[in-house]
Amino acid sequence: EVKKSSRNSFCLFNREMNQRVQDSLRIDAHLRQALERKEMRVLFQPIVEASTGRMMKVEALLRWQSAELGNVPPDQFIPVAEETGQIVAIGLWVLEESCRRVRELQAVREDSVPLTVSVNVSARQLQDERFASIVSDVLRITGLPANQLELELTERIIIDDDRAVLANITALHEMGISLSLDDFGTGYSSLSYLTRFPLNTVKLDRAFVRDIEFNMQSLHLATAIIAMCRSLGLALVAEGIETQPQAELLGNHGCRYLQGYHFSRPVNPADIPQIAGFQPRRLASVA
Ligand code: C2E
Ligand code: MG
Ligand code: MG
Ligand code: MG
Repeated sequence: EVKKSSRNSFCLFNREMNQRVQDSLRIDAHLRQALERKEMRVLFQPIVEASTGRMMKVEALLRWQSAELGNVPPDQFIPVAEETGQIVAIGLWVLEESCRRVRELQAVREDSVPLTVSVNVSARQLQDERFASIVSDVLRITGLPANQLELELTERIIIDDDRAVLANITALHEMGISLSLDDFGTGYSSLSYLTRFPLNTVKLDRAFVRDIEFNMQSLHLATAIIAMCRSLGLALVAEGIETQPQAELLGNHGCRYLQGYHFSRPVNPADIPQIAGFQPRRLASVA
């Protein structure tokens, strides 16, 4: 009995693994043509300053509409692209597209408050010794000032202790580009790297935001992280804000920036100017 059931579950496991490998191979094959076929798009999701409601940043989020596979979410194709190294070319395209689009948005912003674009970067990209100089080229080509670019890194990348990664991080910081730690709280939870690297921003993972309205312990945890970031001079972005009470609780406790469906889903860059907070609040005009 026992033997039989364990053999069955082994078979099931095998089939599942096999399926996953098949999926990856299919994704990889189609991903190779995705850029030249113009199947990729970058969406922008607003990041709002809690105290003013102003849109201060947008996060660039990649979308892939494959002719053969349909819409493939980034959580499925980014790991494949990282595995095969295709993320280097794809990431460069995302970076250039993001800088160009935010430069266009800045031109139609009625006041001079700079809009920053925050771009997710993979380990493979930072492991390339030329990465910082490639970023510098992209800024020059697109005309975006360095202080309007932020790069989102994960704990896994920065604690890796890779020589090229460290050199790139230092060079990017010296160029005036902001560095942001994504998905904070989901990883290794060793806090020493918060001061060891020239980080400007920490992004609190949405797992910490989810039940702060209903769970006192969660709220205490969030407010402790807010206080810690403040005393370390790090700006905090809370991710995954879906409700007004979440926005208010975090804002009132001093979280500087808020991001989530409550404000806006990721949208086409061209639609950003229509979203609240992009332009200064105008008084109702008297016609
Ligand atoms: P991330 O960088 O942590 O991005 C935040 C994710 O949360 C995005 O998922 C976003 O659409 C989603 N999100 C935003 N607000 C809410 C909310 O209120 N509720 C919920 N439930 N979700 C929310 P998305 O766009 O599917 O991207 C998933 C991940 O894929 C990203 O997580 C990032 O790690 C990766 N990714 C996306 N674009 C790129 C890229 O251009 N390069 C690299 N290397 N990774 C990328
Ligand atoms: Mg991110
Ligand atoms: Mg995140
Ligand atoms: Mg994530």
